[in-house]
Amino acid sequence: MAAVKVAVTGFGGRMGRALAQALAQSEAAALSAAVVRPGSSLVGADAGEVAGLGGNGLEIVDSLERADFDVLIDFTAPAATLANAKFCADRRRPMVIGTTGFDAAQKEELLAAARQIPLCLASNFSTGVNLCFKLLETAARVLGEDADIEIVEAHHRHKVDAPSGTALSMGEVVADTLGRDLAQVAVYGREGQTGARSRDTIGFATVRGGDVVGDHTVMFLADGERVEISHRASSRLSFARGAVRAAAWLAGRQPGHYDMRDVLGLK
Ligand code: NAD
Repeated sequence: MAAVKVAVTGFGGRMGRALAQALAQSEAAALSAAVVRPGSSLVGADAGEVAGLGGNGLEIVDSLERADFDVLIDFTAPAATLANAKFCADRRRPMVIGTTGFDAAQKEELLAAARQIPLCLASNFSTGVNLCFKLLETAARVLGEDADIEIVEAHHRHKVDAPSGTALSMGEVVADTLGRDLAQVAVYGREGQTGARSRDTIGFATVRGGDVVGDHTVMFLADGERVEISHRASSRLSFARGAVRAAAWLAGRQPGHYDMRDVLGLK
């Protein structure tokens, strides 16, 4: 079967380069277009060289209008992702979205696009984190009512949103399993005279610094014991490989909203 042709937006970013590497290693999908923001000094450069993979003859472009592709992979920023989702919906092209930091209205817009195209949206594309989501369901079911639940995450100094999309997804999995509404029970950081902790809350703590690719720990703190479910990413390739797998899986699907657990058959 011919490899799925993949366009990557945000090609000049950290994830853009990791995606180029993952696509070069994939048999199911291949890079067919590398897109950067208008005015970028990378326009016209060789995509393979920019990604450190050696020249591949693919010229970097500044618009999806100039891209030939079956599926788009987008790890950029919320405003850019929304514009790209509109482009893909208008042209009926499937889309894999890794961008995080959407507000509720922006998420609604993405779900509207998913009525027209297959759209895979995940706050974390690594296999290990998606396995953790499954383990968290079990832990919450067994321990959740008797334990205080706290989520701690750490990322590199350049990350612009907090808590991470992955930490929020972990909170959602736990809250959903326990029949709680995360918007009602989440506590984002504590300071001063906070009063005692109430059992139903789910606490979040954020660490930023250095070159940490992404660490997450969910703690179930009971009287006399505690369970911690942790994931540590040591390379962006773990996210990129998952996103490429999602792109190959998405090609030819029915329109709809999918996530990485669908791709991995974990539902
Ligand atoms: P980055 O800042 O290195 O790269 C972002 C790229 O998007 C840049 O090249 C930038 O030029 C481009 N961009 C931003 N706004 C744009 C616009 N308006 N128009 C065109 N291009 C635009 O960031 P990164 O570390 O690569 O992360 C990108 C996003 O992916 C973030 O939201 C991050 O949280 C998310 N992320 C998700 C996962 C996951 O598994 N879902 C993993 C890592 C990062």
